[in-house]
Amino acid sequence: MINVSDITGAAKVLLDAGKLPEYKKLLEASEQLLKLQEELAEKTSQVKTLQAEIDEIRSDQVAGADFTKVRDHYRDNEGNIWCARCWICDKRRGLVVKGVGQKGEMTPQCSRCKQFYFSF
Ligand SMILES: [Zn+2]
Repeated sequence: MINVSDITGAAKVLLDAGKLPEYKKLLEASEQLLKLQEELAEKTSQVKTLQAEIDEIRSDQVAGADFTKVRDHYRDNEGNIWCARCWICDKRRGLVVKGVGQKGEMTPQCSRCKQFYFSF
């Protein structure tokens, strides 16, 4: 990777030599380089986020193979309750946990899609 100090040094040489057009072009190229480096950092971050999402989806697919359908939800071998809506629609795991219903009551709810469950 090119250092800013390398560009600054080259720019100073051009400026000292009175080569203003070349000096301006080097500054423009330097600005473009900085923008490209910022874009690269942003894209790299996006790739990491997407890779983490892919890993999570793959993990869901593997874990979902052990699901057993029980009425309107799924259970795994460890007794955890999983959301049928998430599994059927998205092939993703949605852990059903205690949620708060519209009247303030504790109601089983999917932690992913927020679907309420009323019967277990
Ligand atoms: Zn869900």
